[in-house]
Amino acid sequence: MTTTIPELFGSMVFNDAEMKKRLPKDVYRAFLKTIDEGTPLPLDLANVLSHAMKDWALEKGATHFTHWFQPMTGITAEKHDSFLSPEPGGYALMTFSGKELVKGEPDASSFPSGGLRATFEARGYTAWDPTSYAFVKDDTLCIPTAFCSYSGESLDKKTPLLRSMQALEKQTLRVLKLFGENDVRHATPMVGSEQEYFLVDEALYQKRPDLIYTGRTLFGAKPPKGQEMDDHYFGSLKPRVSAFMKELDQELWKLGIAAKTRHNEVAPGQHELAPVFSSTNTSTDHNQLTMEMMKRIASRHHMVCLLHEKPFAGVNGSGKHNNWSISTDKGDNLFAPGASPSQNARFLLFLTAVISAVDDYQDLLRLAVATAGNDHRLGANEAPPAIVSIFLGDELMDVVNSIIQRTSYQDREKAFLSIGADVLPTIRKDATDRNRTSPIAFTGNKFEFRSVGSSASIAGINIVINTIVADALGRFADRLEKASDFSGELDNLIREELTAHQRILFNGNGYSDDWVREAERRGLSNLVSTVEALPQFVTEKVFSLFEQHQVYNRTEVIAHYEILLENYYKTIHIEALTLADMVEKEILFASGNYQDQLAQRIMHKKDLGLSTAAEESTLAQAAESTNELYSLLGRLKEETATAELPSDSLSTAVYYRQQVLPCMEKMRTEIDRLESQIPSSIWPYPTYGDLLFSLEGEPRRH
Ligand code: ADP
Ligand code: MG
Repeated sequence: MTTTIPELFGSMVFNDAEMKKRLPKDVYRAFLKTIDEGTPLPLDLANVLSHAMKDWALEKGATHFTHWFQPMTGITAEKHDSFLSPEPGGYALMTFSGKELVKGEPDASSFPSGGLRATFEARGYTAWDPTSYAFVKDDTLCIPTAFCSYSGESLDKKTPLLRSMQALEKQTLRVLKLFGENDVRHATPMVGSEQEYFLVDEALYQKRPDLIYTGRTLFGAKPPKGQEMDDHYFGSLKPRVSAFMKELDQELWKLGIAAKTRHNEVAPGQHELAPVFSSTNTSTDHNQLTMEMMKRIASRHHMVCLLHEKPFAGVNGSGKHNNWSISTDKGDNLFAPGASPSQNARFLLFLTAVISAVDDYQDLLRLAVATAGNDHRLGANEAPPAIVSIFLGDELMDVVNSIIQRTSYQDREKAFLSIGADVLPTIRKDATDRNRTSPIAFTGNKFEFRSVGSSASIAGINIVINTIVADALGRFADRLEKASDFSGELDNLIREELTAHQRILFNGNGYSDDWVREAERRGLSNLVSTVEALPQFVTEKVFSLFEQHQVYNRTEVIAHYEILLENYYKTIHIEALTLADMVEKEILFASGNYQDQLAQRIMHKKDLGLSTAAEESTLAQAAESTNELYSLLGRLKEETATAELPSDSLSTAVYYRQQVLPCMEKMRTEIDRLESQIPSSIWPYPTYGDLLFSLEGEPRRH
């Protein structure tokens, strides 16, 4: 291939450079103005824009266009319309109007709405999001859009995300004004999300209905080798994986996604990709596209990409580290400590806002990452615990303590740190990045939120972060705007807030049992699973937070809560049915065959007068596990029979957690016992060893 990376990058995106080149100057300027001011584009201008967009898309081979949106399913949705427009006389034109660009009306009745939209009112509409570039994928011009019900309620993740970004911008600008920064017009939350994933061989995957239907293995005995040798992390890439990563990078670059780092992760078969950070909105769209591309390109290489949080028990699961900061249009990162006393004071105030927000809304942050899949990962001693806390690193912790106690900090020359007058000691990035056990870590100039599940849309967590930080900044601005002595009040505010919220700061080992006890002593919340976490969504505190900042209204919160609950129990329901099916059709039968062979051998050996002690004891074990498994299967089938289910979503979710999941776990124990006993010639499924170490050898031709 002769194309260079800069030529490739963004080649399938109708980006700023392309618009500048193709649009009349006045249209281009009007477009930039709408983005800057957040106003709608007049229809005549939209017509010019859509025309240019279509011409560009046709050059890229597009035949169709679609409003590309993110319903509450967690993945993206698209319905393609061709540009084709038949004309009288039997010929056809390719057309795309401004109206088609700005608004679409997909039938919304089959997307989750949590009761927001009765099915008789099936119409929803999609509205163009001009802040995220259109792109061509699958010969289709994809236009990023928000998805709403006809009454205006959000049916997607983009709408509340954009609202939360606005809320954060509003409060950030208020605070910046107090520091005399009147010329800052925009403040944007920036996100870089590191994506973890597994790759397995496609032929083996096809033999595991549990992977196909649920994305995770529902059983599998521990292989002789797992991740204990630590020989996979950052290891050299296997040729098949390397070929996949190379093609993935190129496809992502074409879509303007700045894929930057790629490496092997801790577990065998596990990998990571991280892009360069960008605006939260773009980042979210790009992460959705990245996940889609990972799946698609894996299949071109005869592999399957698993995005589930815990595809294999006993080895590390996959997460998505959400790196978050705020940038201004002046190019400042508000979480960079800076060199002058005033920059330091600003930094400390923004830092304090995050600390205060995280402590106030621990539960909301927890529930934003709560799903059936992530329940298997959080708190499993390889991922952050369910307890929310912040890691600051020793140096910043010293600064915070010196502010709280008015004592000298590490830089011993100063008696104590006077905010706004002194310069902070240098905070080294490497000193802030060592703790991997914390759910939220300050890493030099950004916060890294580590609890997000690998399959989740990052919209959820960022909606929460943006809103709670906006809320804290708003409170700070209320107080500081009234102050006659700004510096004095700033000093007091930071000290009071840090003192009140210091319990959320924890630099120690988040995986230890001591921390669970210590956190309880500190009064931190510990919502161990999704069913404990989700009810915290529908509280007066949360309603008023979201209503005040116009991110969700009460109806939307309740609808989103219903969707999350439904998603939770439906996930476990599908897992249970899959497990029952695999046990009933294959495992019991295979175990029967195995016992049959053993029994025959025992009879033959007895005929010869030989000892059969070993075979008899093995047979007895297999028979015992099989009987137990059979009786558990009966129980699971009864438990998942819909007639038995409670009527409301929360009770159903609790029921699945307390009844169904434990039964599945018990079955797994028996299955894994049988699997370790039964030879592979009889065992019907690929084992963990097969799946995790399946990618040796050269890439297969495709
Ligand atoms: P690590 O694995 O050490 O955490 P990576 O390089 O894998 O680091 O990922 C770091 C992520 O953080 C990248 O996506 C990067 O672009 C992003 N990032 C860096 N600076 C910022 C920032 N100021 N705001 C948001 N994200 C950032
Ligand atoms: Mg990383």
